Amino acid sequence: MEENVKICCPKCDWEPDGGQYWMCNCGFVWDTFSTAARCPSCGKQHEETQCIDHVGGCGGFSSHLDWYRNLDKWVKKEVKESFEEVAVPALPAGE
Ligand SMILES: [Zn+2]
Ligand SMILES: [Zn+2]
Repeated sequence: MEENVKICCPKCDWEPDGGQYWMCNCGFVWDTFSTAARCPSCGKQHEETQCIDHVGGCGGFSSHLDWYRNLDKWVKKEVKESFEEVAVPALPAGE
């Protein structure tokens, strides 16, 4: 992780402190920023991330990518690959 990368809420600038505040639809609780918003249990890629209000955040939802300031290559690559796994573009035949 590069030094100039900062993670904070796009709406209120709350910074995640490494706590496991996020819960997947499958019920698994983890730190979503440790896996670029992919559930370690069921593999679901979450496109939106909620700010955690009970530890100082605003409770709003934002796109996971919007949380990264000075997004580094690792995160971009990680998230891109994750999205490609769930949404593969279909190419028209014969072109
Ligand atoms: Zn899950
Ligand atoms: Zn917030």
